Amino acid sequence: MIQLLGESLVNKPVLIVGAGISGVACARELRDRGVPFTMINKGRKIGGRMASKRVRDSGTKYDGRVFDIGASYFTVSDPDFKSLTDSMINAGVVTQWTDTFHVSDAQGIGGVKVGPMRYTAPKGIRNVVEYLARDLNIEEGEITDLAELQSQGEYSTIALCMPTPQAAKIYPQADSISPAHWEPVIAVSFLFEQKIWRDFDGIFVNGDNEITWIANDGARRGDDAPALVAHVHPVLASHHLSDPQAVIPYALRAVQRILGFIETPVWAHAHRWTYAKPAEGSTSDLPTSHVADICLAGDEFSAKPRVEAAWLSGRDLGRSLAQKSV
Ligand SMILES: Cc1cc2nc3c(=O)[nH]c(=O)nc-3n(C[C@H](O)[C@H](O)[C@H](O)COP(=O)(O)OP(=O)(O)OC[C@H]3O[C@@H](n4cnc5c(N)ncnc54)[C@H](O)[C@@H]3O)c2cc1C
Repeated sequence: MIQLLGESLVNKPVLIVGAGISGVACARELRDRGVPFTMINKGRKIGGRMASKRVRDSGTKYDGRVFDIGASYFTVSDPDFKSLTDSMINAGVVTQWTDTFHVSDAQGIGGVKVGPMRYTAPKGIRNVVEYLARDLNIEEGEITDLAELQSQGEYSTIALCMPTPQAAKIYPQADSISPAHWEPVIAVSFLFEQKIWRDFDGIFVNGDNEITWIANDGARRGDDAPALVAHVHPVLASHHLSDPQAVIPYALRAVQRILGFIETPVWAHAHRWTYAKPAEGSTSDLPTSHVADICLAGDEFSAKPRVEAAWLSGRDLGRSLAQKSV
């Protein structure tokens, strides 16, 4: 896939396809280094898998409130990502959530697990990407024909900042670049009339065929709303990708069983992520900083495919492209 460009990189803009956190990190790097670029993203909203869903028609005071339906939180270990996160905390965009989650089996909660600090965003996790992109110009549109774009020769480089199965739809060679094995998730959001559970932040659910995770979205957002988000097990999700709403009863049953209540929600919504996350162990630390006429960036080029990895991948790609353009 790698064709070194040489001279042509100098004057033409880079095309960044995808405005998730990796694409936005790439764009910020190019902007800061004075490299011209155009950015395009499929859909009305940016943020990709850092997504939030607004409640509508619940008949409650929570209409308009957002639920986080993609990434639940992010962690921080790289010093540069730490200083970016600190600046977002100072700007009121990001908050520290918790370092402690509960752990449960299929029957109920069995204990707690302490880990790294998890960061989240009071206005919803999409707001992190919106904030980072606040002074970028992002066009709305879907790239469907990469070959034609390439043949027009308008861009020095095309940076595909998205999961490789999505990139492969427009650039078939992408499939051979990353070893990641992608798993689906269906995220089910529930709004209840009132809080009927004891306080918790999140629960890792082990050994259950229906769900793998429950987030207390009210604790996460800091408004104490009676709001939960459950992630459906990848196997169950894979059977319902054509009709995600059909998993709501399974997810509700699992949440009721684990949290020990029988009440039903006043509003529920299921969101399908066909390419949610690379499976554990299917990725490794691969450099994304090659300069070719088509480049890829995203979370999967890391042994820990997460928000932080996606940001680092996009940032490194932007740096590399900027170096090549001088
Ligand atoms: C359910 C779920 C839970 C998660 N939980 C966590 C967590 O707790 N912690 C954590 O750190 N990470 C978590 N993640 C992973 C995290 O969300 C990702 O690592 C990160 O958001 C990836 O960013 P990205 O920019 O690489 O890709 P994406 O966010 O997928 O962005 C890709 C962008 O490209 C656009 N695009 C795709 N194709 C085209 C096209 N042809 N033309 C134009 N635009 C296109 C898409 O619309 C999208 O905006 C989770 C993900 C999911 C789905």
